[in-house]
Amino acid sequence: MGKALIIGCGGVASVAIHKCVENSKIFEEICIASRTIEKCNALKAKLDGKSTTKISTAKVDANDVGALVTLIENFQPDVVMNLALPYHDLKIMEACLKTGKNYLDTANYEPENSAYFEYKQQWALDEDFKRAGLTALLGCGFDPGVSGIFVAYALKHYFDRIDTIDILDCNGGEHGHHFATNFNPEINIREVTAKGEYFENGNWIETEPLAIKRVYNFPEIGERDMYLLYHEEIESLAKNIPDVKRIRFFMTFGQSYLTHLKCLENVGMTSIEPIDFNGQKIVPLQFLKAVLPDPASLGARTVGKTNIGCVITGKKDSQPKNYYVYNVCDHQAAYREVGSQAISYTTGVPAMIGAALLIDGTWNLKGVRNVEEFDPDPFMDALNKFGLPWQENFFPALVD
Ligand code: NDP
Repeated sequence: MGKALIIGCGGVASVAIHKCVENSKIFEEICIASRTIEKCNALKAKLDGKSTTKISTAKVDANDVGALVTLIENFQPDVVMNLALPYHDLKIMEACLKTGKNYLDTANYEPENSAYFEYKQQWALDEDFKRAGLTALLGCGFDPGVSGIFVAYALKHYFDRIDTIDILDCNGGEHGHHFATNFNPEINIREVTAKGEYFENGNWIETEPLAIKRVYNFPEIGERDMYLLYHEEIESLAKNIPDVKRIRFFMTFGQSYLTHLKCLENVGMTSIEPIDFNGQKIVPLQFLKAVLPDPASLGARTVGKTNIGCVITGKKDSQPKNYYVYNVCDHQAAYREVGSQAISYTTGVPAMIGAALLIDGTWNLKGVRNVEEFDPDPFMDALNKFGLPWQENFFPALVD
């Protein structure tokens, strides 16, 4: 039915590509384009012939708008999937506008030299995308992504008004390393060491990093410590969910991870300020990334499960109502299926689903959009079909 250009060939992209090949009715043709073409060729060699999807590869620098434009003009995709890094969002969006193509990503724009992310610069392109009759679908991974779909589904089917949303992200997996991150270490550490922030009664409330801790008993995993973080879907949900009073995001961390992180932070290894080293400028965090395990290598050794979901409170027919919707994903099951651990799996599957809904026209709102603005039902069906089944609880424990 259509063609997708996939930019990036790391952990998340690899899962999305496996899933595009599985969904060959929609993805007749894909092009895998990244900085290191050897990775694209190796994945093509692994997947060629697994279905009718035709696969090609290309080398591209996602910072080079001219090169992106040439690649897009040659391949003529229906959608460009940005599964590289959030630094590239604006360049790839610009290339999509220049060539008249739809756009999708899984993380909002973040400049490389400041660890501050917000939707403002991407939302600013809304009129341009609308005028061109195009869609830019932002944040279509798990969180952001499925977290917003879960909220839209709750609002459509169970609530007249949503009052509070707590997004709970638990990784109950063990990889056996002293310290490693589950996705790109640079992006992950920037997120975790940033100040916490949540939305309440129209205000943004800032906290020191990891200052708010709660304990939650996660289905199929058990009790875990979780910490309040700022997360980008809080910004879009605050805009898109009418009258919502409070939105928070919590992520679980084990004590060993936090102790290692604190130590690295204390000695300056998580800094993004360049320093002089032997006559060369290096960014400590980028150096740290180079010595940490590659997240793509964790798949074989990670055991346990992830549980990511939303606890929602509000009103239905004037009565108070609570609701918890979540997905549990098993690291080893994901590894057996696509050769990646569950963090990449839970991000790559929704990216494929979002692209499929754009290609087949089921999701056809124009402009720069977040996932919760679309009809959640076809997405929720596809999650069940493509490996991320969800479960509901109408009497969940709430987070205080
Ligand atoms: P990886 O580091 O594994 O992969 C990044 C890929 O981007 C690599 O293939 C890398 O190429 C490529 N790349 C980097 N710079 C360039 C460039 N200048 N030009 C072209 N390609 C480039 O990251 P992940 O797969 O773990 O994460 C991918 C994205 O997914 C990130 O934006 C991350 O924030 C997001 N994410 C979203 C989640 C969600 O739930 N919404 C959860 C987890 C991640 P090379 O091989 O040469 O390094």
